Amino acid sequence: MGCRRRGDRSRLLRVVADRSGAPAVLVPDPGARLPGRGAWLHPSPACLDLAERRRAFPRALRLPGPLDAGAVREHLQQRGAPVQPSTSTESGSSPDGHPMSLQR
Ligand SMILES: [Zn+2]
Repeated sequence: MGCRRRGDRSRLLRVVADRSGAPAVLVPDPGARLPGRGAWLHPSPACLDLAERRRAFPRALRLPGPLDAGAVREHLQQRGAPVQPSTSTESGSSPDGHPMSLQR
């Protein structure tokens, strides 16, 4: 959920709501052992941001939002965010082969 990227489900992080307090808070469930409804998230802060912005957690968990995702965010930051492949390779600032540069 969250973003529309599809990945293998085994690498997704399960997130559940801890309803012992009020208001309920989101907690990570890496072992997928906690009872109740769960939401699945790519283990990246970006995916968490998206899910929060789209209010995906209250919808997936059938709870009135907003839900505090601080514990989940902390968990993601601790395990290290995977490198985003999209903007990793930038070819510096030098424009290569400007045609006008051949003039003398
Ligand atoms: Zn995602």
